[in-house]
Amino acid sequence: MHSSLALHHGHIRTLDPRHPVAEALLIRGETLTAVGSDEEIRSLDRNAESIDLQGRTVLPGFNDSHLHTLGYGRFLGVTDLRGCASVEEMLLRLRPALGDPEDPDSWLTGRGWDQERFHALPQGPSRPFFDRSCLDGLPTRRPLLLERNCGHVGVANTRGLQVLGLFREDPFGPTQVDRDEKGEPTGVLREDALEWVRGQVYRIDFDSALRFFARAGEAFARRGITSVQSDDLGPLGTDLDMLLRLFGALREKDLFPVRLNEQFLLPRREDLETFLEGGYRTGQGDGHFRFGPLKMLLDGSLGARTAALRRDYADDPGNRGLLLYGPEALKERVARAHGAGMQVAIHCIGDRSLQTALEAYEAALAEVPRDARHTIVHCQVGDGELYDRMARLGVVAAVQPPFVASDQSIAPPRLGADRLAGAYPVKGLLDRGILTTGGSDAPVEDPAPLRGLWAAVTRQREPGDPAEGWLPGERISFPEALDLYTRAGARLSFEEHVKGALIPGFYGDLTVLREDPFRVNPEALPDLPVDLTVCGGRITWRSPDL
Ligand SMILES: [Zn+2]
Repeated sequence: MHSSLALHHGHIRTLDPRHPVAEALLIRGETLTAVGSDEEIRSLDRNAESIDLQGRTVLPGFNDSHLHTLGYGRFLGVTDLRGCASVEEMLLRLRPALGDPEDPDSWLTGRGWDQERFHALPQGPSRPFFDRSCLDGLPTRRPLLLERNCGHVGVANTRGLQVLGLFREDPFGPTQVDRDEKGEPTGVLREDALEWVRGQVYRIDFDSALRFFARAGEAFARRGITSVQSDDLGPLGTDLDMLLRLFGALREKDLFPVRLNEQFLLPRREDLETFLEGGYRTGQGDGHFRFGPLKMLLDGSLGARTAALRRDYADDPGNRGLLLYGPEALKERVARAHGAGMQVAIHCIGDRSLQTALEAYEAALAEVPRDARHTIVHCQVGDGELYDRMARLGVVAAVQPPFVASDQSIAPPRLGADRLAGAYPVKGLLDRGILTTGGSDAPVEDPAPLRGLWAAVTRQREPGDPAEGWLPGERISFPEALDLYTRAGARLSFEEHVKGALIPGFYGDLTVLREDPFRVNPEALPDLPVDLTVCGGRITWRSPDL
């Protein structure tokens, strides 16, 4: 490996207001050491590995401020079966996954089929499901589970049923595990039986978790991401010890090409105490794996009507959603973490959870004032008064612009017109001086920051729909949107002195795009090719076209 990397003939947008544009740059080891003209950079180091960018645009590496790396890596291993028009098409889509060098007992999984779309099955009021015989023709010895798009029905192959022991015994009965006239399971699994099977199939152990992290990291790098702020304890059953061992192994085996700030989800009081007694605090670790905030979930989602609202759901009178912690319990937990020096990040979708979280932050900050950068993750429903309060307290909003595209049909009936006015804010937050960061919540949304930039700028769900964008007063400019995914993300993790801009002395973290995103039509943003990603001076993604 070269110890120096020089990029030439680029259109470098540094996001450094003192030197906004340059042609070339030099990275030595992990650090960006110079930004300037082609001649200047060449004269500094004639032996550096050099890449001719041929006019491509260089930006600071993207930073996703909230996602789930482990969950996303697991999701990537599941074959997407949405839109399949036949069993044959499903099997065809599964074929690339057959060759994975995994052990013969590891499950092959697919999700999203819908037999109503299968042309070959008999027409009728409700088409029958396919069975295990359809799957046994695949050239694999591995167990297989394919879930329907609804998540209530799945089909396993014969090997899968054997591994699950469902030929020998059946604790669920015939309404859950379908059987043929000989009494043998057909492969169709429903409801509780499927839920149980899922628990077996998607169980995460150390080795699979390592694979999921590695797979996700590779996908991030391809999308131009160099930093993520990631919540991963959930699927590990809050096993902090295992998570820290995973980070150690990822580093040692060089399997994770992205910087990661962990957002520690520790829902039980004793888990937080163990964490604090272990001496762990926000900001520990190094530039690769760092300790981020304590993460807390305060409510659910608008889709499921579990987000906590101050008034009833417009489409469900009497329901205001639910808070997962009472106001006093939350205050106590936040005060404990804040007093110990932790940053805190709270998942809030509804305005009641936002208000409750802000009250807890306000009390803790009054007790021990400091630059804590406590965070509201999502921040989807609120009003001017709540947002003013966020600004006053220095609370950060970690928003997900792609939700704007996905939630346009869900939010209006749930909230009604009056509450919609202050919902899914971005511009309103920036105008108040609130530090606002961009993320994807992957696997909820694809982690591609270019998709998030497009959503933040257009607020459309598809090109031209709606023409002015959804809640168009919240649209922001491209430079503002880019800030969400670069400099603001760095500030969120207290790393603005090393990340988020291309300034000598900062990490050599950058992404190279085929065209200049400041100049293209916003509708072209999601498909702009990422040609190169460099993290700490190392090339983590390079397209065949460069
Ligand atoms: Zn999340």
